[in-house]
Amino acid sequence: MFAVTASVLRRGALRYRDSQRTMATIVSGNKTAKLVKDRLKKEVAAMKDQFPGFRPGLVVLQVGDRDDSNLYISMKLKAAAEIGINANHIRLPETATEDEVLQRIVAVNENPAVHGLIVQLPLDSINPMNTEKVTNAVAPEKDVDGLTSINAGKLSRGDLGDCFIPCTPNGCMELISQTGLSVMGKNAVVIGRSKIVGAPMHDLLLWNHATVTTCHSKTLDLAEQVGRADILVVGAGRAEMVKGEWVKEGAVVIDCGINHIPDSSKASGKRVVGDVHYPSATERAGYITPVPGGVGPMTVAMLMKNTVESAKRFLQKYTPGKWNIEYTKKNPLEPQLSDAEISCSCQSKTIGQLAREVGLFSEEVEPYGRSRAKIRLDALKRMEKQPDGKYVVVTGITSTPLGEGKRTTALGLAQALGAHLNINTFACVQEPSPGSFFGARGIAVGGGYSQIIPLEEALFDLLVPLREGQRSVSPAQLNRLTKLGIEKSDPLTRTEIRRFVKLDIDPDTATDSGSLENEIMAILSLSSSEEEMQQRLAKIVVATNKSGDPVTTEDLDVSGPLAMLLKDALKPVLMQTVEGTPAFLHTSPLADIAQGSPSILADKLALKMVGSEGFVVTESGHGADIGLEKFFNIKCRYSGLRPDVVVIVATVRTLKMHGGAPPVQAGLPLPKEYSQENLKQLEGGCCHLKRQIENAQAFGLPVIVAVNKFSGDTDPELELVCGQAREAGAFDAVQCTNWSEGGAGALALAEAVQRAAKLPGQFSFLYDTQIPAADKLRTVAQKMYGAKDIDLSPKSKEKLALYTKQGFGNLPVCIAKTHLSLSNDPMLKGVPTNFMLPITDIKAHVGAGFLCCMTESTNTEMDDPMWPCFHGNNLYSDSK
Ligand code: NAP
Repeated sequence: MFAVTASVLRRGALRYRDSQRTMATIVSGNKTAKLVKDRLKKEVAAMKDQFPGFRPGLVVLQVGDRDDSNLYISMKLKAAAEIGINANHIRLPETATEDEVLQRIVAVNENPAVHGLIVQLPLDSINPMNTEKVTNAVAPEKDVDGLTSINAGKLSRGDLGDCFIPCTPNGCMELISQTGLSVMGKNAVVIGRSKIVGAPMHDLLLWNHATVTTCHSKTLDLAEQVGRADILVVGAGRAEMVKGEWVKEGAVVIDCGINHIPDSSKASGKRVVGDVHYPSATERAGYITPVPGGVGPMTVAMLMKNTVESAKRFLQKYTPGKWNIEYTKKNPLEPQLSDAEISCSCQSKTIGQLAREVGLFSEEVEPYGRSRAKIRLDALKRMEKQPDGKYVVVTGITSTPLGEGKRTTALGLAQALGAHLNINTFACVQEPSPGSFFGARGIAVGGGYSQIIPLEEALFDLLVPLREGQRSVSPAQLNRLTKLGIEKSDPLTRTEIRRFVKLDIDPDTATDSGSLENEIMAILSLSSSEEEMQQRLAKIVVATNKSGDPVTTEDLDVSGPLAMLLKDALKPVLMQTVEGTPAFLHTSPLADIAQGSPSILADKLALKMVGSEGFVVTESGHGADIGLEKFFNIKCRYSGLRPDVVVIVATVRTLKMHGGAPPVQAGLPLPKEYSQENLKQLEGGCCHLKRQIENAQAFGLPVIVAVNKFSGDTDPELELVCGQAREAGAFDAVQCTNWSEGGAGALALAEAVQRAAKLPGQFSFLYDTQIPAADKLRTVAQKMYGAKDIDLSPKSKEKLALYTKQGFGNLPVCIAKTHLSLSNDPMLKGVPTNFMLPITDIKAHVGAGFLCCMTESTNTEMDDPMWPCFHGNNLYSDSK
């Protein structure tokens, strides 16, 4: 066994005879464990408050059915439940193979809802099990038992803050600290060198600066070693092995042992004792832990502590606003490559990496290929209580058919803020393709139902079938009954059945499928949740019945299936710019007949993800008179979001056009006037820029003008535009070269945006939705377009009266006007005045939530360019 020297025995005997000696203070593990668990309970409650729906998760994996393991597991599960940890017990049968155990571990490792995984030892299987291999299969960041080589290695190297410490030694340290004794410089003796108790105990004491001796079964002078210990920790698994007389007077004695010895006085015939002979040791020690009620309860408490700690680390890693992102800074090449060549040459990150970098959980990301992913809406719910970042909207002036480069500038600005100024930044842009691919074409407009009107009761049976004597009425059908003033579903009178099944649609009022497609896209873009989308879809008016009441998709009972079809389309698509800045591409409602900007969900999610110091750069379609007005009066009204800064993109080319240069046509060479410096003509066109600055300022926000530089633009021309913009009241005006230089070319813009975002916002809408619809139209026409007044056609007057009667008069208005002029005449450039805005027709997009008002110049179809930009691109060419 071990050798006890005579001197130790003598010394022990002497001390033992000291009658003045007081008994050791008992260090109660029960009490300390309760304090620890109470504290953890509060921490978990605070976590749940901050992150709704979040709970620390623990899994205990057991193989077999050992009684002692069952007892320990039940104690762990009970403590977890008390604290608020979501603990699950996975028990595999004793027939489980090592492979099966490993597979379960891998599955738990990948489950983001689990923050702690412990494998209950010993593994009680009839099959061979390599315990080392099994414990090491646990992901180190979930190894709350601290048994993997990674965690053990870190502990042995003193990286205490970066590892999980095994629970029993961790509990021992907590108990030692309860005595008030400082460990530093003390002589500590540990008996035992197992992976679970002795070895980590040694490391912990060592890195808390004790001088440590570790003893084991081969130690020759155990009693003598024990006699030198100011702190003694025993984990030998030998009942009452350490005698009181070995213990140094006043020492702290921590007894980890759990041993059962026969005791005829107990009903069970046995009792639990430690590795220390407690009665004699209490007479010499200063402090001692009892068995039971000492280290045992602390082990469980420390397991809970590690689990909560692991959950905290998980949350910290994924705290919105804390990004660990790597950008790719591009060195622009001379001569500039084509867009397709640049795109092909980019080494983009995998979408999984980007998602992790911007703090998304893996279960929130649905990858589509290597470079795109849909983001689940749970992410927004998780970040609900987080502050929003700064919100910047990019708009333009009334452009040539070639555009101003708004999206290029928006992306360049996001790159400059992100990759160059290291500020969390998201770009939100519209999807480039039209909305029709969502398959809205052919949704029931109701014609079929009209045809079978004579078969009303049969139809009622078909629509609301009898199941076991009960009518199964869908929620949509109940809503229709309520709408008809029928407060029951069965039995219905013949008249009620007739009213229910007979939509009685006035065929002249049926909404065309193109309008429906546009409205559905607008709904996708304006909904903040699945629930809201379904509610909006249910409100789509597909026709008016012969009594003048609206017939909706809900009346047709198609709104539910429609919502199911669109469920995935509602998730924003995560992509990245050439510099690795995250971008959401989501929805593409047209800026004429809808609000023309990326979805509310993309903006909301991005604003949470960037954190309070970050930026989201979003875009609005066409010029400030069209897209920006709708962005504010429609999108912001529904989202509740308030931008901080407006960026107006302008080009010398377009301002020359507004100053009288000949029209520009896509696909044709630019007229020669555009390649010559003409400051007079340019200055003449700047009246248009001023008007658009005023338009943006009407909403009370700081406006920055970004002049998108083209290679032929001269310095005097660029300076002239910037000067004119500042004179017109812009907060700043800067040149941008991001098309050729990437984010570096938009640094001045990024810095101006940063400064402007610090100003207190004074945002206000242009009109109150409660005023008559005609007045709303007039306000937009006069304040944004500069019209003298509106001219309502008889048809639109009729529609206004109908919609007001139907209760839709208080919706915001969406004017569909040409984007080629401030007026409704595409040929009028500059700042047209003294014109009437003819409103030819009005359509109620009740689901989307606006009245769509057509003007003579309305283009309700996709805005197909005369020379589509896809020309010249090939999947395969000789060189690649
Ligand atoms: P273990 O793996 O059996 O290790 C025992 C250690 O003690 C070994 O290092 C062994 O030395 C040493 N040892 C055995 N007999 C000795 C002797 N006569 N003199 C000196 N050293 C001796 O046991 P363990 O898992 O570490 O557990 C130790 C004790 O703690 C057990 O009673 C166990 O029930 C208890 N425990 C309690 C908790 C709790 O929650 N309270 C948790 C874990 C363990 P060698 O290395 O040379 O063999």
